[in-house]
Amino acid sequence: MNYGEKKLDRPIRVGMVGGGRGGQIGYIHRMAATRDFNFQLIAGAFDVNPERGRDFGINLHIDPSRLYDDYKEMFAKEKERDDGIEAVIIATPNYLHYEITKAALENDLHVVCEKPMTFTVKEAEDLKELSEKHKKILATTFAYSGYQMIEQARQMVKHGDLGDIRVINMVYAHGYHNVAVEKHNASTKWRVDPKMAGPSYVLGDIGIHVLYLSRIICPELKIKKLMCSRQSFVKSRAPLEDNAMTIQKYNNGAVGYLWSSCVNSGSMYGMKIRIVGEKASIEWHEDHPYALSYEVQGEPQKIMVKGADYLYPEAREDDRGATDVVEGLFESWANLYSRFAQAMYAIDHGKTYDKWYPNVNDGLEAVRWIENCVKSADNGASWIDYK
Ligand code: NAD
Repeated sequence: MNYGEKKLDRPIRVGMVGGGRGGQIGYIHRMAATRDFNFQLIAGAFDVNPERGRDFGINLHIDPSRLYDDYKEMFAKEKERDDGIEAVIIATPNYLHYEITKAALENDLHVVCEKPMTFTVKEAEDLKELSEKHKKILATTFAYSGYQMIEQARQMVKHGDLGDIRVINMVYAHGYHNVAVEKHNASTKWRVDPKMAGPSYVLGDIGIHVLYLSRIICPELKIKKLMCSRQSFVKSRAPLEDNAMTIQKYNNGAVGYLWSSCVNSGSMYGMKIRIVGEKASIEWHEDHPYALSYEVQGEPQKIMVKGADYLYPEAREDDRGATDVVEGLFESWANLYSRFAQAMYAIDHGKTYDKWYPNVNDGLEAVRWIENCVKSADNGASWIDYK
């Protein structure tokens, strides 16, 4: 059970790049980082428009002298201070992730970078090398993975409750962009521009979230072959896809199906994952994340809920509140940020942190998956060896 008591001697001083006024994801980063007093937000370059960014920072009660025009100025000026930032949160459009993360690591800062971490595997490998060289954590926000029932699913697979895994059915398919909303929505406009989004739209924007859930629940499964078909139903989005289906074969003979889409008209909460084993299946849905369906062949379906005594102990460690209090996305994020802070603290004190969290390898593996999907799709949806 997590009662929000302190995990570190003192909060880590953190700055933020992006996530300014009107930005989609900045608010939940700030709430998750500061929820358990593990981070203190003291500086920022919040916006592509420096004036708007400063005004926004003032409204967050940040000292105006620590609101900067851009990340370069923030890193340089904060470095001169005894109480300068020790970590940075990057919540900008994708094309800036690589250059800002690289600069942050070179300035000996820990990083929480949004996904997808980079455009290419090569860039992601560079960042991994830099984080190792500078002994700094590079975490990424596959933020749906902090739910208790995702941990329960992981433990059930680990303990053999499903038997050998045969099929993984993954969906992240919402309907909010079934028409060209990007014409009047800045947050969607950059997502369909390859210069700002990278080589994919929905694969990198949402597909990698549910892919990460599968990797956390079934860590032993490694993709060996993959084929992907991608389309742009809103034609102006080409070459970037607004719909894609990936089929992947794993080392143990299992098969995975992953549907990424933003044109699934009428679908409001688009994410679910079903793991099918030889004895039983489990299924988790984003719109009731505190529950996990457990279906044993020949028995009535069971719905397991977070906080219950019958869960594996690991699935109760980060439970916040009573069993009858539902858990939501802010809790999932806060659980991950708590782990990021503990990992940063541990490495700074020459220790290791054992609990899993979306780390630099996970950021890199997501970029690898996107690269493989795009390669297959642009080669006539052919089967390729996964590299
Ligand atoms: P957005 O367009 O809504 O907001 C982007 C923010 O970045 C804006 O405040 C903008 O002013 C700022 N910005 C742009 N260029 C900047 C620069 N040079 N310096 C400082 N600030 C700058 O985008 P969003 O939807 O919030 O997405 C941001 C990132 O977060 C993307 O990489 C996206 O993939 C990711 N994201 C992740 C999740 C998740 O669940 N982990 C959810 C949504 C978005």
